[in-house]
Amino acid sequence: MILELTPNITAAEKSALVVALQEQRCDFRELPDTDVQRIGIMNRAIREPDFFNRLPGVARTVPVRTPYKLVSRQMHPQDTLVRVGNVLVGGDRITVIAGPCAIESREQALTIAHLVKKAGAILFRGGAFKPRTSPYSFQGLEEEGLKILAEVRETYGMCVVTEMTAPSQAEIMQKYVDVVQIGARNMQNFELLKVVGRMGKPVLLKRGLSGTIEEWLMSAEYILSEGNPHVMLCERGIRTFEPYTRNTLDLTAIPVLRNLTHLPIIIDPSHATGIREKVSPMARAAIAAGADGLMIEVHHEPDKALSDGPQSLYPLQFGQLMRDLYVIAPVVGKQLDFGYLDKARAVALRSRGANDSRQKAAFMGRVGTFSHKACLQYFGGEVEALPVASFRAVFAAVKSDTADFGVIPLENSLSGSIHENYDILNDYDLSIIGEIKLRIMHHLMTNPGVDIGDIRRVLSHPQVFGQCRHFLEQHDWELVSVSDTAAAAQRVADGRNTGDAAIASQVAAEEYGLKLIAENIETNPRNYTRFVIIGKSPLYTGPIDKTSLICSTRNEPGALYETLKIFAENRINLIKLESRPIQGEPWRYMFYMDIEADLGADALKPVRKKLEQKTDYLKILGTYGEVPEAPPGEGAESLQV
Ligand code: PEP
Ligand code: MN
Repeated sequence: MILELTPNITAAEKSALVVALQEQRCDFRELPDTDVQRIGIMNRAIREPDFFNRLPGVARTVPVRTPYKLVSRQMHPQDTLVRVGNVLVGGDRITVIAGPCAIESREQALTIAHLVKKAGAILFRGGAFKPRTSPYSFQGLEEEGLKILAEVRETYGMCVVTEMTAPSQAEIMQKYVDVVQIGARNMQNFELLKVVGRMGKPVLLKRGLSGTIEEWLMSAEYILSEGNPHVMLCERGIRTFEPYTRNTLDLTAIPVLRNLTHLPIIIDPSHATGIREKVSPMARAAIAAGADGLMIEVHHEPDKALSDGPQSLYPLQFGQLMRDLYVIAPVVGKQLDFGYLDKARAVALRSRGANDSRQKAAFMGRVGTFSHKACLQYFGGEVEALPVASFRAVFAAVKSDTADFGVIPLENSLSGSIHENYDILNDYDLSIIGEIKLRIMHHLMTNPGVDIGDIRRVLSHPQVFGQCRHFLEQHDWELVSVSDTAAAAQRVADGRNTGDAAIASQVAAEEYGLKLIAENIETNPRNYTRFVIIGKSPLYTGPIDKTSLICSTRNEPGALYETLKIFAENRINLIKLESRPIQGEPWRYMFYMDIEADLGADALKPVRKKLEQKTDYLKILGTYGEVPEAPPGEGAESLQV
């Protein structure tokens, strides 16, 4: 049962309420704030709701009908993000955990860790205590294996995940590892669950071979009820009548869990399928279905692996899969960020240098805009998102050190460049240090309880009305233009007018407590906006494969051609060219270009020099990148796929 407290409850009333609950022997805890303060009572039917309703400070009681309480969405409406080192599992960034089934030797672990990190893995996995069906199979290196895992963390800066099979291992697990895995065979080993609940370390709780979703959530409840909220759920296939795969991957668990619980959802396609060639298709499907992350077995010599070789990907295949996921994730509003680990570490270091104050990234608008979402996706929760009133204010904030970074939209795949921002980029001496592309999805939303038939007016940004034209044409609504989509959502929420609806993002709906009436109403679903990150210096030394620049050429025949020829001669791909009028010089133009090369690299000094000679103004806006080079093709033919 949930007690919703009265808005004006005093500290004295609250203390009295706590005493009253203690007297009744209630097992209760304060729940995270929604609009109201809430207390959750775990015991079933301890007193009638009326009893609690009469206690001073209680506004109303809400029954919780599921047997699991702390893991339920009802008790905790916001998604939980589980912190593992500098990384947050859950939210908009995909976490990929990769490594061998078992740690077999120091060389094996370090070799695989190096390869999976290069391909973009965020956490490293490897079993040291292996729960094997046969007592004669390799049982793991035990503590020796944990020491190797700790060395992997020190060497590669990746936190490590390993399975704990008995309560007696608690102490060495505390010492060496970052995430404790509870294996499928132990999902209902309640003594083990209680111990990891008391350890407080993040837990990856696998679904049992024949565990129902409710049983699985009850197991998670054991861990949370012991005071450890850092739980991730991992679906790894269940046992069915189907013998073609090792288990049957239950992908429906993703949307089912999403409704029932706030905990992050990880999918393990390796144990689910047991067959190497089935792993990547299922991994791609899991991300498309909205999983928060994946756990994948990778081995550089799977034929020699001491366990689960047939289901382990070759490093090359893992690299290819990661690039596929990079493309799929934005379609479902998420991001696979190849720079995640390096960025998170750089942010942590900079924050420490600045007396622990959090780094800030300025964006235009308010919480719930797409600029805000871009900010969250690029920096995750590590950086504080700072809303400011205009695009120019974003640049000013970075220039004055009020913010460390700025996030600004530069172009939309349907409506083209945001010229204002190109012009401001030229005015300031700040660099583009990164970019991120977001799929723009528009939803129609109203206050709770309002039906589509009640709507009379729709509020949003004028560009959004254009992008949702087909949907809007089917209705006879008055369209009211406002400054941004989140402002529309906020006005609808504040107004409480049943005739008003907003078109805005999912984040805005959550932020302002609105209900989605119609989802993805944009006419063209291929609607992406490219944002760039601006700053005074690079955040981290990730891959650089792109340069943005502005130049103007002399007003004479062939001047632009001569400039572009430099790129052609050096086999540099030009990916964007646009002209803008030069302020105060009618009919003269500035050119904005993006090229696929790092113009800051020493090897391209001669190219830069030639550009300077052929232009009369040249400004490099920034060199940046996000995707590591494709893994080399050689050896692919030897893959047994
Ligand atoms: C493993 O992750 O290596 C493992 C043994 O998994 P599961 O418990 O899902 O079988
Ligand atoms: Mn395994």
